[in-house]
Amino acid sequence: MSQSGQAVAQIALPVPLPQCFDYLPVPGHALPPVGSRVLVPFGRRRLVGLVLGHGESQTPANKLKAIEAVLDEGLIGPDLLALHAWASRYYAYPTGEATQLLLPPALRRAKAFRAAGPNGFELTPAGHVAAAEETSKRAPAQAKAMDALRQGARTKTQLTEHGIKAATLKTLVDKGWITPTALIETMSPVPGPTLNAEQSAALDAIVSKPDGYQAFLLAGVTGSGKTEVYLQAARHALDRGLQVLMMIPEIGLTAQLIRRVESRLGVRCHVYHSDLSEGERLSCWQDAMAGRAQVVIGTRSSVFLPFQSLGLMVVDEEHDASFKQMDGARYQGRDLAVVRAKSLDIPIVLGSATPSLESLNNAKQGRYQTLVLNERPGDAIQPTWRILDQRGQHDGLSPELTDKIAGHLKRGGQVLLYRNRRGFAPVLMCQACGWQADCHRCSAHMTLHQSQQRLQCHHCGHQSPTPRRCPSCGDPQLVPLGTGTERLETVLSGLFPDWPVHRVDRDAMSGRHDFERLLAEVKDGGPCILVGTQMLAKGHHLPKVTLAAVLDVDQALFSGDFRAPERLGQVVYQVAGRAGRIASTSGQVSEFVLQTRHPEHALLTQLCQGDYRAFAARLLDERQAAGLPPSEALVLLRAEAHQPEAVIAFLRSAMAPLAQAGLQVQGPIASIMPKRGGYWRYQLWIQAPSRRALIDGISSTWPRLYDLPTAKKVRWHVDVDPVEL
Ligand SMILES: [Zn+2]
Ligand SMILES: [Zn+2]
Repeated sequence: MSQSGQAVAQIALPVPLPQCFDYLPVPGHALPPVGSRVLVPFGRRRLVGLVLGHGESQTPANKLKAIEAVLDEGLIGPDLLALHAWASRYYAYPTGEATQLLLPPALRRAKAFRAAGPNGFELTPAGHVAAAEETSKRAPAQAKAMDALRQGARTKTQLTEHGIKAATLKTLVDKGWITPTALIETMSPVPGPTLNAEQSAALDAIVSKPDGYQAFLLAGVTGSGKTEVYLQAARHALDRGLQVLMMIPEIGLTAQLIRRVESRLGVRCHVYHSDLSEGERLSCWQDAMAGRAQVVIGTRSSVFLPFQSLGLMVVDEEHDASFKQMDGARYQGRDLAVVRAKSLDIPIVLGSATPSLESLNNAKQGRYQTLVLNERPGDAIQPTWRILDQRGQHDGLSPELTDKIAGHLKRGGQVLLYRNRRGFAPVLMCQACGWQADCHRCSAHMTLHQSQQRLQCHHCGHQSPTPRRCPSCGDPQLVPLGTGTERLETVLSGLFPDWPVHRVDRDAMSGRHDFERLLAEVKDGGPCILVGTQMLAKGHHLPKVTLAAVLDVDQALFSGDFRAPERLGQVVYQVAGRAGRIASTSGQVSEFVLQTRHPEHALLTQLCQGDYRAFAARLLDERQAAGLPPSEALVLLRAEAHQPEAVIAFLRSAMAPLAQAGLQVQGPIASIMPKRGGYWRYQLWIQAPSRRALIDGISSTWPRLYDLPTAKKVRWHVDVDPVEL
C-alpha cells in the first residue's frame, strides 16, 4: 500500500446520505475530470453520479470500487459546480444532491448523453446544382423543400411550418443535396412601445454596465411596465450575442408571456420547468448549453441550467414564495440567481410590484440598486380604497360590497373578488353538540366541498364523504361555517343571475389551459364576476376590472407567523393592482375594497395609506427591532415523527452541539401547524451574531446530527432562511 494513498474521484450519488463517495478510475484510465457524469456500482445497484472532486483515499485499493464507465467527460462546467458547492454549504444540504440539481431527469439514468442534432438544414453544393436544374420531374414534396432552402438555411420548425415532412428531409439528406446545420431561430421582432421617463431611466441603469455584476430591484406598481424594461434589457444582451434567463414563480400562465417575448424579441423562447416531459427538459438543457437557447423562461430549477454565455438574469415577481424549494435540497432560487449573477459578473434584475422585505433590506443596505416605476402608462388611474366592516355577515359579502358589485356590473365593469379558501366552507359543525369535522392526521379542520359531497383536508389530502348526521351526537343539523370560493360562487350566482360568475381555483381550473382560456374570454368580454384564490391575484392583465376586493383578511391579522403581515400586504396590493387599469376617459371610477371584522386594526390602517413601500419599510423596522429576518438571519432545525416525544428528544439532544458551535438556540417550539399528515412537527430557532457565524456554525454541525441516537427516530432537516414556520 502506498503511503500517499489512492487517487480517487469524489462522486455525488443520489442516495440519502450527506457525503460523497470515493471511487478508483476506470481500470487503465486516468481519473475523469471534475464535472464528469459517471456510472458506478453502489451496493447491488448501478448509479449515475457526478464527479465533484479528486482526492486521496487511505482505504486499501482492494476495498475501493472502480468507476464502471465515464458517461460524459466534464459535462458540468466550473460555474455550476461552484454554484452547487456554495449552495450546499449555505443551505446545509447533502453534497450528493448535486445529481438532482445539476442534471435533468433524463441524465440521471445510465444512458450516454447525446447532444441533440443541429436544428436546421441547408443545401449542399450538389444540392444547389440540383435545385437550379429543371425540377418538373421531381417529387412535389422534395421540390417544395428544395425551393424553401434555395433562399437559405431554414430551421426544422420553419420547414415544418411550410408543411415539409421529416421523411422528405431525410430523403434529401440521403441524396446528398441537403445537410443538417445549426441555426439560431429568428422571427421578425415587433417594435415595442416608447418607454416613459422612469422606464428609460431603469433601462439605462441596467444596460449601462453590461459586463459587470449589479443587482437591481425593479419596484414597479402593477401596470407600470416592468416587462417592457425586461424585454429591452434582454434585447441589449441578445444584440451582444449573450443568453437571457427569465425566472418566474409558476409556469401556469406563461403562454401569454412567451408570445410577448417571442414577438418583441424575434427569437424562439425556451421553457424549463418540472411539468415538462423528460425529453423536453433535456432538449432545453442541451440548447442552453450549446447556446442555441437565447431566451429561457423557467421556474426556480432553471437557476441550475448550463448556459454557454449568459448575459442577463431576470427574476420576475421576486417576492413569490414559490422560488423557495421546500423539500429535498432546500434553496431559494431568487437568492441563488443573485449568487450566480455575481460569480458570472453579469447584471440581474429582481422585479415586483410588492418586493420582499429581504430584497428591500438588501436595497437599503446598498447591495441592490433600486429602480422605481410609479407611473402607469396611458391614462390608467389608481383605484380608491375602502375598508368595509363584515361583522355579522354569514355569506362573506357585506351589503355595501353587494351594492358596489351591482353598480360596477351595470356600468359595464368587471369585478374581481379574492378569497384564499377553496371549497364551500372551511368548517362543518354540529349545532346540537358543537362537534367540528377535523382531520385526524392534521391540526386542521376538514373543508366542506359541497358539490362533491365530500370533506377534504387541504394539508394532507385526506378525504371522506360528508356525514349525514353528527358522528358525535347523531343530530342531523350539520352547518357549514365560513365561506370558501365554492360558496361565494353559489351566493353570487343567486344575487346576480344576469351576469356570468367565474370561479378561479384549483378545483374549477384543473385543466392545464382552463385558466388561460378563461382569461382570454374575460379580457375581451363584457361585465362579469371573477371569484377566486391566489391564482387570480397574480399579475394577469385584466383591463376591464373596475372593482377588486379582498374578502377576508382577518386570519392574517392574528397569525403566529411573523411573515403574515408582509404576505397580507403583498396580496392586498396585488389584488388592488387588478383594478383601475381601465382608461379614465371611459368615465369608470375604479375601486378597491377590503372586508374585515376588525376595521380599526392598526395594520389595516397602515395598509390603506396606499403605498406598499412605505408599508414595507415600517414592517422592516419592526423586524429589525424584534431581531427577525431579514435584519437577522434565521435557521430552523425542523423535525417530525408520529410520536411527539421522539421529536422533542431529538431537538433537545441537538441543542448542545449547536450551542457549542457558538449558535443561539431556542426551542423546541411547535410548528404553526403542529401536526400534519400524521406527523408531529417541532423546530429549533437558531441565530448567531452574524450571518457568516450562523452559516459557519450550521455547516460544521449539521452532518454530526446524523450520529445522534435520537436522530434515527425522526425525519429532520435544516431550513436556512425559512419562509414558513
Ligand atoms: Zn353533534
Ligand atoms: Zn390532514
